[in-house]
Amino acid sequence: MKNRSPLPIYTPQSPSLPNDKLMYKNTKPKNNTSIDDEQSARNVYIETYGCQMNVSDTELMSGILSQAGHRTVNNIDNADVILLNTCAIRENAETKVINRLVHLNHRKRRNEDLIIGVCGCMAQHLRDKLLEAAPYVDLVMGPDGYRDLPMAINAVTTGDPFLSLQLDKNEDYADIAPIRKEGIRAWLTIQRGCDKMCTFCIVPFVRGRERSIPLDILTDDVKRLVDEGFKEIVLLGQTVNSYNDNKHDFGELLWRVAEVDGVQRVRFTSPHPANATDSMIDALENCPQVCKQLHLPLQSGSTRVLENMRRTYTVEQYRDIVYKLRERVPQIALSTDVIVGFCGETEEDFRQTYQLMEEVRFDTAFMFKYSDREGTLANKMLSDDVSESEKARRLNEIIDLQEGISADINSASIGASVSVLVEGKSRRNDEEYYGKSDTFKTTVFPKEDTQIGDIVEVKIHSTTAHTLIGEIA
Ligand code: SF4
Repeated sequence: MKNRSPLPIYTPQSPSLPNDKLMYKNTKPKNNTSIDDEQSARNVYIETYGCQMNVSDTELMSGILSQAGHRTVNNIDNADVILLNTCAIRENAETKVINRLVHLNHRKRRNEDLIIGVCGCMAQHLRDKLLEAAPYVDLVMGPDGYRDLPMAINAVTTGDPFLSLQLDKNEDYADIAPIRKEGIRAWLTIQRGCDKMCTFCIVPFVRGRERSIPLDILTDDVKRLVDEGFKEIVLLGQTVNSYNDNKHDFGELLWRVAEVDGVQRVRFTSPHPANATDSMIDALENCPQVCKQLHLPLQSGSTRVLENMRRTYTVEQYRDIVYKLRERVPQIALSTDVIVGFCGETEEDFRQTYQLMEEVRFDTAFMFKYSDREGTLANKMLSDDVSESEKARRLNEIIDLQEGISADINSASIGASVSVLVEGKSRRNDEEYYGKSDTFKTTVFPKEDTQIGDIVEVKIHSTTAHTLIGEIA
């Protein structure tokens, strides 16, 4: 592949506020390009970085490619096309991809027909700058451009890189059948994009406006997933509980998915505290298939910091949700996300976070030091003024706190029986299985005569901060 002419940039957008300032396409769907002969069919290897939403997008990309006659392969050595499906949440996620591209360029030097593409959030974030950093990349495609993949693969063989970076407020890929790996748990994207504007977050700029997939389409998808053998359905969205297809809210969706014949468990991630409605809590309380587990991102225990983050709730409101949940669903396991060292966070703000974590006693927490991301509102408007050493100290304090709380909560389940969906062989011992409890705790136990996909009762005899260990009850 040959000399390149100046870049035919499709529509690179400058990151700005969504809605009127980001350019959206208003038409959908485009016709999927299909290839007309076996010789044009390519072997495509997709490497996925980042969150579960990206894993789900990789399944979607596989579906689009397969519909057009291409094949996805598991061995990179057999690939004609290598796509990196990327994450932009943290700088080190992007650095990892740039390093990977350098490595892939060695492959390309050995095989000049190899096509290398960067897709997903990092592609949308860096846009044409990506080609400055890695000029050998053939294809740069944002999360709303995946329908263009078959056409892009054909187009880059002419020698020009292909950029597809328009956001599309109507694109929900509802008509595409993703190709999933076999298993017992299926992730189902019910919503794309995000309308919240948390100041630390790049997502609204790289994934665009929130769109919900109509409920009837989703229930048909769930029926298909059950037929394919999946036992547990995990509903996915950036703010999954703000789901609204103009006829149904998230609580109704939970009931309708749970009622599909053969669905044994339903989970969802990630909800936003501002959308923790009574209808969602009602489904958690009363719908037997909806697991008694909730990941409810807190981010900070200081209302002042929450305001700077534009999280749209106060600490009091967050606390009220927790108390209401615990009152109505006493066995619920709560997990959270916490950021320390956000712009302007004082020692007093941090103490409030620490105390709230002590008070709420989350089962688990994902804890991070704040890191400034170019393109976010915080990067433009706020000063990243907490020193790295101070961020590290704060982070270590809450990690120590949370490890103790997680271990205490788990040890309280010694002697109890938990219901576990069997997922596979334990990594440490072939004679043991592991699975997740209803409350999403990893549980390990001797196999006996259980099968993968069974739901079994396991009596817990010992625990760590992260695992329950027991025997079939
Ligand atoms: S809710 Fe906030 S943190 Fe979550 S994706 Fe939207 S902007 Fe990002």
